[in-house]
Amino acid sequence: MALISRFDPWRSSMCTCPPKMTFNPYTGCDHACVYCYASSYIPQFAKCRPKKGLLPRLQREAAKLKGETVSIANSSDPYPRLEATAGLTRRCLEILAENNCRIQIITKSNLVIRDDDLLSKVPSTVALTITTDDAEVARLLEPHAPPPDARLRAAEDLIGKGIPVSVRIDPVIPLVNDNQEKLVAVLAGIGVKHVTSSTYKIKPDNWRRFSAVMPEVAEKLKPLYFKQGEKIGGNTLLPRDLRLKLMKNIRDLALANGMQFGVCREGLDKLNTAACDGSWLLNSETR
Ligand code: SF4
Repeated sequence: MALISRFDPWRSSMCTCPPKMTFNPYTGCDHACVYCYASSYIPQFAKCRPKKGLLPRLQREAAKLKGETVSIANSSDPYPRLEATAGLTRRCLEILAENNCRIQIITKSNLVIRDDDLLSKVPSTVALTITTDDAEVARLLEPHAPPPDARLRAAEDLIGKGIPVSVRIDPVIPLVNDNQEKLVAVLAGIGVKHVTSSTYKIKPDNWRRFSAVMPEVAEKLKPLYFKQGEKIGGNTLLPRDLRLKLMKNIRDLALANGMQFGVCREGLDKLNTAACDGSWLLNSETR
């Protein structure tokens, strides 16, 4: 089975990402986000382990690429805590740079700044997920991921090195992180050019975790999701009108602050002002 594949999230008709390749250096992830979707389809997800034969497989497959964009990673974070000592994602970046690939990193970790030298060698962009600027809410939602202020500093550092950054405010959960006015203004102030957002989509296992961590909020969200919401492709979503309102709020804030905006798998792509995943930054003049 190939390590690198065309990005095609469960053949979701709601995905509006431009064509790109993807792979995960690690199987599983140890950030332990309560809302994680990947944990429902990858066995022993919390046990983060390197992909078998990762580096030789990548060497072979990257040599066949012809300058495509490679997105790392979409089913696990490429900077789990293990990466600080294992350095496997760093080795992957070296291989991709040697093969003149264009690189999109998606992460919640400030460890990405360690690799700014490699990211500066080829067209690259980093999508940092910052779900909230409230450290206590982040600790509950993403207990093992670096805190929001560390991610903001990482964004600022990368931009300072000429590496364009987008931020994923993702997922937005009503009553938890649906007021993002301050965060969006901070992002614009440090030079972030693009915001991607989406709403929380319930799967049975992430709902169990969320309900355990925020039981009172979960009680209030139940009717919104399970009575008024929509079932799409194995997920339970908020009602469409509410999703539109939440995403439009963030879009309006992004635009008012001079940034581009994209929604991720909401069926609301008319809200997009640029490629939803921020990959347009690979061609931007900020480089
Ligand atoms: S960082 Fe991403 S893959 Fe890792 S636990 Fe959080 S949501 Fe899941």
